[in-house]
Amino acid sequence: MVSIYDTDAIEALRIRNAVQPHRIKLFRNALFKNALGRAGALAELPEDARGEFARNIDFQVLEFTERHDSEIDGASKLVFKTTDGHLIESVVLRPATGRTSLCISSQVGCACSCSFCATGKMGFTRNLTADEILDQVTQASRIVKPEGRSIRNVVFMGMGEPLLNLEPLFQSLDFLRAAPFFNYAGSRLMVSTVGIPHAMERFSEKHPDVQLALSLHSARQEVREKLMPQARKYTLDMLRESLLETSRHGKVMIEYLMLSGVNDGDEDFQALVNYLRDIPAHINIIPFNEYAGCNLRGTPQLERKAFADRLKAAGFDTTLRYSLGADIAAACGQLVQHKKGI
Ligand code: SAH
Repeated sequence: MVSIYDTDAIEALRIRNAVQPHRIKLFRNALFKNALGRAGALAELPEDARGEFARNIDFQVLEFTERHDSEIDGASKLVFKTTDGHLIESVVLRPATGRTSLCISSQVGCACSCSFCATGKMGFTRNLTADEILDQVTQASRIVKPEGRSIRNVVFMGMGEPLLNLEPLFQSLDFLRAAPFFNYAGSRLMVSTVGIPHAMERFSEKHPDVQLALSLHSARQEVREKLMPQARKYTLDMLRESLLETSRHGKVMIEYLMLSGVNDGDEDFQALVNYLRDIPAHINIIPFNEYAGCNLRGTPQLERKAFADRLKAAGFDTTLRYSLGADIAAACGQLVQHKKGI
C-alpha cells in the first residue's frame, strides 16, 4: 500500500497502469483542491485503472474518531487517531466575520511545558509525520465541504511545537503550497513557535512567504523563563537577533497572552515596546483560556483593550484576539489527549 501523499509511488502506479497524466491531475484536484474524497477521486480515472488504484492506495492516514461542535461560536474540534493509537486534535474555526481556518497539530503532546498550556502538561509522545500533518487538512476539508465551505487558512497552532519537528513541517508546507496539490499561497499558512532561533532562521530561508508567529508572552527574561522553560535556553536576546533576521521577509506576528499580575503591568508594557523597536511586527493580544488544574488567571477584557490601545498609540500594528471554541476545549492551549485510543 502506498500513501496518497507519496507522489513518487503514485507516479509509478500511473505508469504501470498507463493512465494519462491529465487524468492523474483530475484525480489530484478531486482529492486536494475539491475535497471530493476517495470515491470522487477514483471516478476521475479510466475505469480499467480504478481497481488497481483503489487496492494500492491508502487514502487515509488518520482515522477520524470524534467531532465536537461549539454551542457558542463556530468552532469544531476534530479528533483523529493515528495508526499506533494516539489521539490528536484539529480545530475548524468559522469566525462570524471571516473565512474558515483550520488549526492543526504537529506533534502528539509537546515537550515545551509552557506553564499556561494544557498540551504542555501531557508531555511529549512523538512527532507527527508529514502525511499525518497533511491528512488533517485533507479530512477537515472534506468535513466542511457539505457546509459549502473550504479551508481558507491553515495555522500550525494545535498540539506541539512545529519547529521541533522541522523536516515533516517543511515537507508538509511544500505539499500544501505546491500548485498540483493544495496550492495554498504562503500568506494563507501560518506557523507558530515558542521561539527556537536557529529553526526560525532556517524556516524563513526555506519558506520566506509563509507567516511566522512567535509566542512571546513577555519581553522580560525572568518573567518569560517562568512561563516558558524553553526561554532559559533560547533567551530574549537570541530571539531578537532571529526576529530581526526573519522580519526582513515581512512582518512577524507576535503573540502576547495576557495573564493577570504576570505580564500585564506597566513594566511589561515598557519592556515590550523596547524589545520590539525596529522590528516590523504585528502584535496579537490573546485572552487566556482557562482549564482545570491551572491556577493562572487571564487579564480582564477592558485591561487587555487598554494595553492594546497603548501599543497602537506607540505605533505598533496591534489586534485583540477573541478566542473560539472555549466551551469544547478547542481554544489555544486547551488541546490535550483526553484518553488513550488503544
Ligand atoms: N507550540 C507553538 C504552537 C502551539 S500553541 C507555540 O507555542 O506557538 C498556539 C498558541 O496558543 C501559542 O501562542 C500559545 O502560547 C497559546 N496558548 C497556549 N496555551 C494557552 C492558553 N491556555 N490560553 C491561551 N493561549 C494559549
